[in-house]
This record gives sequence, C-alpha cells and structure tokens, in this order.
Amino acid sequence: MIRTIFPPEASLPAFGGAVGDQGLPAFGGAVDPPHPRSVASLQMKAVRLVATGRPLELHDIPVPAPGPDDVLIRVKAAGICHSDAHYRAGTGSVTPLPMTLGHEVAGVIGACGAAVKNFLPGERVCVHYLATCGCCHWCGDGHEQFCATGQMIGKDRPGGFAEFIVMPARSVFRLPEAIPFAHGAVLMCSSATALHALRKARLHAGETVAVFGIGGLGASAVQLARILGASTIYAVDLHPEKLALAARFGAVPVSARTTDPVAEILRLTEGRGVNVALELIGLPLTMQQSVRVLGRMGRAALAGLSKQPLSLNPYSEILCPETEVIGVSDHLASELPLLLNYAATGQLDLAPIVTRTVPLEAAAINGVLDDLEKFGGATRTVINVCPP
Ligand SMILES: [Zn+2]
Ligand SMILES: [Zn+2]
Repeated sequence: MIRTIFPPEASLPAFGGAVGDQGLPAFGGAVDPPHPRSVASLQMKAVRLVATGRPLELHDIPVPAPGPDDVLIRVKAAGICHSDAHYRAGTGSVTPLPMTLGHEVAGVIGACGAAVKNFLPGERVCVHYLATCGCCHWCGDGHEQFCATGQMIGKDRPGGFAEFIVMPARSVFRLPEAIPFAHGAVLMCSSATALHALRKARLHAGETVAVFGIGGLGASAVQLARILGASTIYAVDLHPEKLALAARFGAVPVSARTTDPVAEILRLTEGRGVNVALELIGLPLTMQQSVRVLGRMGRAALAGLSKQPLSLNPYSEILCPETEVIGVSDHLASELPLLLNYAATGQLDLAPIVTRTVPLEAAAINGVLDDLEKFGGATRTVINVCPP
C-alpha cells in the first residue's frame, strides 16, 4: 500500500494554477514557486542504504524542496539495477550515508523551481541519472559525464527509491505517453549505456556486431544494434535463457559454455570477424575476446567494469588489423531523446526485459538485490512507487 502523503489539494496553499497529480499540490511552475518550508514539512517514504553490507531500510524523511533550477518529481517507477546490489555490498562507493538508492527513475512533475520555464506540474518525465553543473567545460561540450561536480542520483545524491526526487530541470526529459513509467525508468540506465556504447563504436548500417554479455545492457544492445542497421548480431553468454532472449530479438546465440566464442564467431563469419564488438561483462577474458573477434578496422567498445589489467598483443591484435579499443562511460543526456523515440515507436521493446514489479518496501527490494547478487539476469525488476 502506498500512503497518500499530501493532504487534499483544497487544504494546501494555492501555488499557481497548474495541473496537480493525484492529490499533489498544484505548485504553479514558474509562476509561484513553492516555499521550501511548505514542501519540507511534508514527509515521504524512502528506501535507503544506511550502512554497507546491511539491508536497505524504509524511512520516513522530509519531501525534498526544489531549488530555482530544479523540479520536484513524484516518482512512479524506479528500476532496481545490478549497481544497487554493488552499492549495498560496499563494492561501489556511496556517500554520504544514509542514502536513498535508485538511479532509474520516471514519474510526474510535482513542482517547478522559479527559474524553470520548460516543465509544468503533471507532465510525465524520466530522469537522466547525472545532476551536473551545466556550465563547466565538459557540460558546455555536451560530455557532461565528465562534469567535475556531477553527482549520480542514488549514489552521490538522493535517488528514486522514494516517493519524490528533486532534480535539475536540465536532467529531466518528457516521457511520451506510449512508454509506461516502468519502461521509462529502465531506459535511463542499461538501455542508454548500450546505445552510447554502439555510438562510441560508430556502428554503421550493414555491419556485423558481437555482444558479450546478455544482461540488462546486452538485452537492449542487441535490439539497438538491429535498429541501427546491423546486418548480423552475435550474442555471447553462458546462460541458455539469456541466449534465448537474445535470439528472440534476432541475434545469433553463441554459447560460451559449449564453444570458444572467438573461434565460433570467426567460423560463422568465415574468418572475417565482426565490425563491432561490445564487452558488457567486465572481465579481462571477455575484453580480450571482444578484440579477438574483430575483423580488419573493427572497433571494440568496453563498457563492463574491471580494474584488472588487460593483455593484448599490440602487433597482431591492434596495429596490423588497425582495430580500435574504445572506453565507454555512462551515456549522454543528449542521447536520451533518440532512445525515447525508439521506445515510443515500438522499435525498442522493453516488455520482455521489465518482467516484475515490487512495492516501495525494504524487504521486497532487498529480496530483488539478493537475487541480482546470485544471478544477475537479463530481466529487470521495477519498483512501482506510486501506481498510476
Ligand atoms: Zn543502473
Ligand atoms: Zn559541469
């Protein structure tokens, strides 16, 4: 059960006249910003990491107040990501604690800061997970993932495992009606990074692709490679059910359990190798394999996280064949409209990927994180925060 947090609209001060949402006070966009105290005096539920290695806890905390350039979003859906399991386990740094986790967020605008001109309360939105300064060299250059003061929601600043989140308006994008909130949330992480990897690898129509790792990223990467015009996509994984999902999206499954994937892909391509390989696992072995399946002038984009050294033969594997090894970090806000268009037009189908919802409750979310620690998986669970 989700509690109604806000009292009926009639009992609230009338901040302007814009559309409210399910009892949310109708703070009037740029007309009459909410006084911070009027928001902060209200409470909301949030599921937070209190200490690493401990289960997340449900707390009642004040609803955050938007600054002049911010919007307050009533969260409708928040994806539970494998990164959240790492944060809980302490293998990714989260500060300060306690921290509300959740970096895959979709919802409805509840209130806008005084300087926000491009949103109105009631609009459906999804959230780019980086809150950036908007004015440094990297932000100005359109590569805001390198913003020196950038903060990731659910890691460096409060995230979406909560009834409300505050975000700079420049990190917020309209969510088309055709995309359910749950899908909008999941698009903001794994799908976005998969698209960024393919763009970094400069995939051209007609080229061949190998995707190593059919987890959350890989299931989107296979579909996105197809959308971008890949002729043949080879999907490499150990797990039959992940390979079956990739095949459903049109990929040629290559089992790393029963074959040497490099030899198998070279056999399937009659020795030519592929034009583009994506490494989405984060192991030195699969990074090596992603370079070794490349043909002449092939590009390997590495998005899986690893701090282990990577061993390659520079002469035979990079110089002679003129291959490229490309790093992939996060994704760009500017890529999100393209991604949303793919989903809104049905080209990118999240339905087979988003297969389960849970309520905003600590036990349910901890259970999902336990499952992710054991298995990973290509499918996603989304927290149904405020059901529509
Ligand atoms: Zn994520
Ligand atoms: Zn910046």
